[in-house]
Amino acid sequence: MRKLYHFNGGVHPPQHKSESTRHPIIKPPLPEKLVIPLHQHIGNTAKPVVSKGERVLKGQKIGRAEGYVSSAIHAPTSGTILSIEQEPVPHPSGLRDLCISLEPDGMEEWIELQPVDYLNTDPSTLRNRLRDAGVVGLGGAVFPSFIKLNPSNRKIRTLVLNGAECEPYITCDDMLMRQRAAEIVEGAKIMRHMLQADEILLGIEDNKPEAIAAMKAASGDEMEVVAVPTIYPGGGAKQLIRVLTGIEVPAGERSTDLGVQCFNVATAASVYRAVRYGEPLISRIVTIAGNVANPGNYEALIGTMIDHLILQAGKNEEENVAIMGGPMMGFDLPSVRVPLVKATNCIIVKSEKLFPKRPAPMPCIRCGRCAESCPADLQPQELYWFSKAGNFGKAQEYALFDCIECGCCSYVCPSSIPLVQFYRYAKSEIWAQEREKKASDLARIRHDFRIERIEREKREKAERLAQKSAKAGSEQE
Ligand code: SF4
Ligand code: SF4
Repeated sequence: MRKLYHFNGGVHPPQHKSESTRHPIIKPPLPEKLVIPLHQHIGNTAKPVVSKGERVLKGQKIGRAEGYVSSAIHAPTSGTILSIEQEPVPHPSGLRDLCISLEPDGMEEWIELQPVDYLNTDPSTLRNRLRDAGVVGLGGAVFPSFIKLNPSNRKIRTLVLNGAECEPYITCDDMLMRQRAAEIVEGAKIMRHMLQADEILLGIEDNKPEAIAAMKAASGDEMEVVAVPTIYPGGGAKQLIRVLTGIEVPAGERSTDLGVQCFNVATAASVYRAVRYGEPLISRIVTIAGNVANPGNYEALIGTMIDHLILQAGKNEEENVAIMGGPMMGFDLPSVRVPLVKATNCIIVKSEKLFPKRPAPMPCIRCGRCAESCPADLQPQELYWFSKAGNFGKAQEYALFDCIECGCCSYVCPSSIPLVQFYRYAKSEIWAQEREKKASDLARIRHDFRIERIEREKREKAERLAQKSAKAGSEQE
C-alpha cells in the first residue's frame, strides 16, 4: 500500500455532498439563448472569428486563441450569431466582457469531427489539437492544458490526477468519476503519452467510495487509484502532490520542476474527447446545490444562463443569490443572469438558513488559530495586519502571494474577520501598483528614447551642415 504524507493545517467544514449525488448527471433542455464569453481561461482573450447573423455549427470555432497563453472558444450548439458585444459575466465585480450570443436552432448539427490516433501522433500536434479544442483546466484554474502538457525538456516522472474535490457542496468530479471513469482513464493515458510520465496517480478523498470503486474498476494497471484522507483543502494541487508523493513544492516553484504534473479528472476526460472524437470543450458538468428543490449535477452547454440551470434544479421562491464555486473559495455572483463558463464547477443558491449572516468582525485576539489552519504555513494574522494597514511590502515579505485563498483562516477565526478579503485586496493593490509602475517605466523609456532621437537628429543635421559648408569652402578655394 502506498505511503501517504500529510500537509499542515486544513479544516473539516460540513460537507453537504450527499444532496447532489442522489441521481445521475442530468442534461438540461437546450436554452433559448447562449452567451459565450471570449475570455474563459488564463491568458489572452480569444479573438472572434464569426460575425453577427452568421449560422454556425455545433463545435465550430467562434473565437481563436490569441498569442501563446490563450485558448479557443467554440459554438456549443448550431444556430445563429445574435451579437458580439459586452455582456455581464460571472465575476465578483459584476464586470462586463466581450461575449458572443447565439440563438440555438435546435438541430444540434455538428461540424465534421476529426479524431486523432494519439499513439501515432507526435505530442506537439496533440498540443495544437488541445489548444484549438479550447481544453483548459476544469478544476477552477482554467489554465490552457496544452501548455501544462509541454514538459520542455523536463522529465515528468509522475502524472497526478486530482479527483479529491475537497470543497463542500461540489460533486461534479465525483459524479464524473462514478459515471465516466473510462473516459478519465483514456484521457490520462493520452496525457501520460504527451508527458512521457512513468506513472499515474489518482487521488480521491475517502468520502467518495463509489468514485474510488468506479475508477479502480476502470483503471486496471494504467494508474494507481489512491484514497486520500478527507480534509479541506486536500484538493489543492500542492497539497495533493504532498499527500501522494511526499514532495513539498516550495513557494514560488512549480511541481513540474520537481517532476510532477497535476490535472483535474474532468480535464482528463475533455482531453480524451478532444483527441479521440475531435470534440472541442463546449459543455461541462456543474453542481447546482443549496436552496433548490432538486440539487444535482447538470451537463450544461457553456454559455447557458445560470438562472436557467437554477430553474431546472427547482428554484425555491425565497432566494436568488448564488455562489459560484464552493463556500470556501467561491464568490457571490452579483446576478444569476450570467452565463456558465468553463470555470463554473458549482452554483450554490443561498438561503439565510444555509448561509446565516456572518457576525460583525471583532478585533483580532491573536489566538493563532488561523496560523494553525493554514495549509501554506503562513502567518495569516500578520498578513491581515499588513494588508489592513496598506503595508503591502511587508505583506509580500510575509509571502502574501503564497496564499492560495483557501479560506481556512477565515473559517476558524473566532473574531469572524474576513481575512481572505484582506489578502485579495492587498494582492489586487500590488498588481495595480505594478501595472502603474510598468506603465510609467514604459512612458519614461519612450520619453528618453524620444529625447535621444531629437538629439541625434540635431547632431546629424549639424554634421550635414558642417560637411556642406566645408565642401562649399573647398570649392571656392
Ligand atoms: S484566528 Fe482571527 S483572532 Fe485569531 S489570530 Fe487569527 S486573525 Fe486573530
Ligand atoms: S487563505 Fe491564505 S492565509 Fe488563509 S489559510 Fe488559506 S493559504 Fe493560509
